[in-house]
Amino acid sequence: MSTDIVERVLSGDRRALARMVTLIENEAPEARDYLARLYPQSGRAQIVGFTGSPGAGKSTLVTQVVRELRRRDLRIGVVAVDPSSPFTGGAILGDRIRMQELAGDPQVFIRSMASRGSLGGLAASTRDVARALDAAGYDVVIIETVGAGQAEVEIVRAAHTVLVVTVPGMGDDIQALKAGILEIADIFVVNKADRPGADQTAAELRMLLSLAGKQPKSAEVWRVPILKTSATLGAGIPELVDALFRHRAFLSESGQLTQRNQRQVRSEVLALLQHTLGQRLRSAVAEDEWQRLIDEVVERRANPYSVAELLARRVGLGDSKEDAVSSREGATSAS
Ligand code: GDP
Repeated sequence: MSTDIVERVLSGDRRALARMVTLIENEAPEARDYLARLYPQSGRAQIVGFTGSPGAGKSTLVTQVVRELRRRDLRIGVVAVDPSSPFTGGAILGDRIRMQELAGDPQVFIRSMASRGSLGGLAASTRDVARALDAAGYDVVIIETVGAGQAEVEIVRAAHTVLVVTVPGMGDDIQALKAGILEIADIFVVNKADRPGADQTAAELRMLLSLAGKQPKSAEVWRVPILKTSATLGAGIPELVDALFRHRAFLSESGQLTQRNQRQVRSEVLALLQHTLGQRLRSAVAEDEWQRLIDEVVERRANPYSVAELLARRVGLGDSKEDAVSSREGATSAS
């Protein structure tokens, strides 16, 4: 039935792609093999992350950006992620009337995803879905996520270009921005610029960016642009799309694309490894053994360090000098 699903995805079959995305989202056992086969065909799309507070106008803005990209004759994939929502499928997009308009376009593929299991799992599935769309030939893949917390930062980390959407009069939001989001923004958008205060918000952002050293004079360093848009009026959208492409060109010309890819691959492989080791540990240690080991530690007949060392050996990871456990032991024993 699905033996050729990978071939069908690669040949542009939308139904096969929709099914592939579901398999990835459900963490189906076969998904990993499919992804391994899709991998060589990926790496061509520009992955763009949109994040910002709920109500900032992200979905309206994404819709406008998709329209502009369509005018430029590009194929676009959109993955809408809501880490806080327990709903999947049409539940999120159901409210997003404008985006649904786009869903009728055969050159646009839209899918929403919601939390299922751990955040790490959601971030990984989002990355894998974006990768499937990339391999299927979409030129630009947009990952849209709600909010600006740790969850969103982790999700948009898979992107080449991260857009942070703000609105006039953010007030305390600015303080929050100082923390994580300032670090990950490649482009700032002050949306709802049809409302008063957009210039002031842009000026405040510019100041924060220069304090953070993100407004350099040097051409080798990306100068984070602050763009004003009105998604409802469609103002500032071509400029925004131009900025996306400028950033992509900057990444490849400066060599930072390679660096970014290397960083991402390293963290991806480490995460996959942790996942594999976690699974191995779960299958190697039964619950009653866990209970026995824990009792021994609680009753001071064993200690947490030696138990961790024992379990590390069990999954084939004995005696690592870099291991946190052994370095901890090294501090208290004479090894
Ligand atoms: P999201 O939660 O960030 O995806 O925000 P939405 O795209 O759902 O927009 C939230 C509300 O803001 C909707 O009522 C939009 O019509 C409105 N909105 C979006 N963009 C603009 C804009 O540029 N100007 C104004 N005045 N309203 C906007």
